[in-house]
Amino acid sequence: MERLGKNHGGYHGEMIDIRAVLRDVERSAQLHGWASECFHESNGFKWLALHRKPEAGSKEPGARIYISTGIHGDEPAGPLAALKLVHENRWPKNAEIFLLPCLNPAGFTLNRRGNSDGIDLNRDYRNPQTAEIRAHIAWLERQPNFDLYLCLHEDWESHGFYLYEQNPDSKPSLAEQIVEAVQKVCPIDPSDNIEGRPAKNGIIRPNIRPHERPDWPEAFYLISQKSRQGYTLEAPSDFPLATRINALMAGVNAALAGAPISGSAC
Ligand SMILES: [Zn+2]
Repeated sequence: MERLGKNHGGYHGEMIDIRAVLRDVERSAQLHGWASECFHESNGFKWLALHRKPEAGSKEPGARIYISTGIHGDEPAGPLAALKLVHENRWPKNAEIFLLPCLNPAGFTLNRRGNSDGIDLNRDYRNPQTAEIRAHIAWLERQPNFDLYLCLHEDWESHGFYLYEQNPDSKPSLAEQIVEAVQKVCPIDPSDNIEGRPAKNGIIRPNIRPHERPDWPEAFYLISQKSRQGYTLEAPSDFPLATRINALMAGVNAALAGAPISGSAC
């Protein structure tokens, strides 16, 4: 599969009608029995948190999984993957899912990474200054802990799909099975250094020390406060939008299939 070659110095691909996408994802979620909560509202945009309970009659306890996307307004594959995942409704029966389909709706109307003030929301999780992230953290504080988190992104510079793994307790890794599933639908970035970090077969296992870094991304907050295992999935923006959506969906479905159940997430 060839790169499109249209992203130079930033993302220059498709834009999406984020209001329509959010309307569709909320409608589809409600059709499938999910609860929908709006935890923040500004300039006519709603910040949605969708919640799917395990199906009635599930005998085994399932994993509690948090999925978020759309924090960068120039990464349309994430909210579209969220919509398609809800629409397809192929979740493990006993899984409890918390899905935040778009954390930066204003950014999508501008096709830019930051919010309407140009602030990168994914650097605001340590001492949050923005109303959006304060509201998001307040929502997170009301939720139980998660067995697994998945943050869906795109990278306009990358040569293929890659992921970051956070797994401080060395639980069985899901990274290889995620990459194996994604490579059936999207090239994997073969680089041995991605975003300044050593990588192998599209997998980055950064040794993070959150207390040493002032500008926490969402994943740092999640691994510090809410979960002991998680993955940031990065689809390559220089490939067709359908390929990027398929990559994120394949990654999520592979992670769901192997999700750990801690039994202590309460
Ligand atoms: Zn991103």
